[in-house]
Amino acid sequence: MRALSRDFVGYGWALSTAEIARLAGIDPIEVVRFDGNVAGAPLTSSRPGTVAGALARVNTYAHGGHRELIDGIARYTGTSPENVVLGAGADDLILLCARAFAGPGDTVAVADDPTYPLFRIAAWLAGAEVGDDDPVLTFCCRPNNPTGAVDPLPAARPLVVDEAYFEYCGETGVGLLDEGVIVIRTFSKAFALAGARVGFALADADTARELNARQAPGPVSTISAVLAAAALEAPPDVGLVLEERERLAHALRALGLEPLQSHANFLYVPVHEPHELTEALLRQGLAVRPFPNAIRVSVIDREDDDLLVEALARLLERPSPVAPAGGRRVRRMRATAETRVAVRLALDGASRVRVATGAGLYDHFLEQLAFHAGFDLILEGAGDLETGIHHTAEDAALALGDSLTAALGDRRGIARYGDAVVPMDDAVARAAVDLGGRPAAELRLEHDPGLAAHVLGSLAQAGRLAIHVEATGRDEHHVAEAAFKAVGRALRTAVRREGDGIPSTKGTL
Ligand code: PMP
Repeated sequence: MRALSRDFVGYGWALSTAEIARLAGIDPIEVVRFDGNVAGAPLTSSRPGTVAGALARVNTYAHGGHRELIDGIARYTGTSPENVVLGAGADDLILLCARAFAGPGDTVAVADDPTYPLFRIAAWLAGAEVGDDDPVLTFCCRPNNPTGAVDPLPAARPLVVDEAYFEYCGETGVGLLDEGVIVIRTFSKAFALAGARVGFALADADTARELNARQAPGPVSTISAVLAAAALEAPPDVGLVLEERERLAHALRALGLEPLQSHANFLYVPVHEPHELTEALLRQGLAVRPFPNAIRVSVIDREDDDLLVEALARLLERPSPVAPAGGRRVRRMRATAETRVAVRLALDGASRVRVATGAGLYDHFLEQLAFHAGFDLILEGAGDLETGIHHTAEDAALALGDSLTAALGDRRGIARYGDAVVPMDDAVARAAVDLGGRPAAELRLEHDPGLAAHVLGSLAQAGRLAIHVEATGRDEHHVAEAAFKAVGRALRTAVRREGDGIPSTKGTL
């Protein structure tokens, strides 16, 4: 092999999720990764139905390339298809730019330190050295990873601007394509497609043609191309992430830390002993990225970010500025060809609930159930709503049931039984539940808006509980809602911990 720079060090991946889980002694699903700067969940467009057409033709090549995706990118970026170069993620385009512009004997400049390590690696792999002396190419990252800063663009040309985090800040060099600037973007961050590996470069038409000529013939799979094109059809709203970033920064400041101002979906937090802190967090199943004088943490959402804040408070021995997470906590993921549902459930919660699967009324009913049970529940998902809400509502209930089963563990020490009567205007529901482990559903609802009994039955099945409900009234919505609330109230009693024993005279459940 051709020798590389003596400085060469390859890209180092962080530990795998399975390795972190082993280290922490937990199930891999319980690991929370704040080290990848990726979205907390896929977009709703990233579903099996989206790729079904591509899968039916996966035996063929994308002859002639991904025209639809390229057109979509041109529209999204306000450029022309002639300006677009596709790659397997931004990384692929960083490597392409380096080998297109630089070779042995050349110098490549990298603005900012610390910055994204792949710029140096790409220069070295091209056979070049990294330095500031008469560079043939300059890389800069905007917003900069890991600091989140948006600094003025370097004057050097040709200049590659890595805008992997563009969507979070809106600053771009796209207006300078005719002045020697190449912009690199990705679907890995705001578009939540890191695993699909799709990125693109934007350059003036001549440069784009040269880059395309030097690119591999088919860097993006047909499956990934349709996912990316579908994501562009319904671009995400990053507003919630930005709000959450500021809330997290505030909580970290309350711990006495001083995160830098960020224009991306992560925070750079100077700390005294970053490696020790990272190790200690890993042992709790929380992954952050260490730097010589700081840690970098991705912004996910309030519930996950608060787990990190709580853990940091414990490790730094400071009072936690956030409400404690509920006890008997589990995370679960249920993915089928029709739906995917992610659940975070804590039995000993404070009725902090959010259910969002798109199944309308049934999201609302499950929220009511969890609220009245006193659970913390975040249940999010996406389903094949084009076929109706049936699969989505059913899988939401099954996923909640699975989570209940997991959170109850061996069911030792729980009250086991619970019952409740809940009136709602013209309706009244009586419910009794038995968490003894045998699924049963005896559901008599005088009116059902469609799937209420089915959803409760699915919950009973996956949660391994018996649910008895009798609900009467004139309005079907009220009848069903009273039923879900009554089951929730009954569960509140049944999950209560009363001791250590097996709640059965048989001595086993
Ligand atoms: N550039 C920067 C600045 C990044 O932070 C990352 C991801 N860590 C990448 C590029 C790589 O993105 P992709 O997944 O598109 O290869």
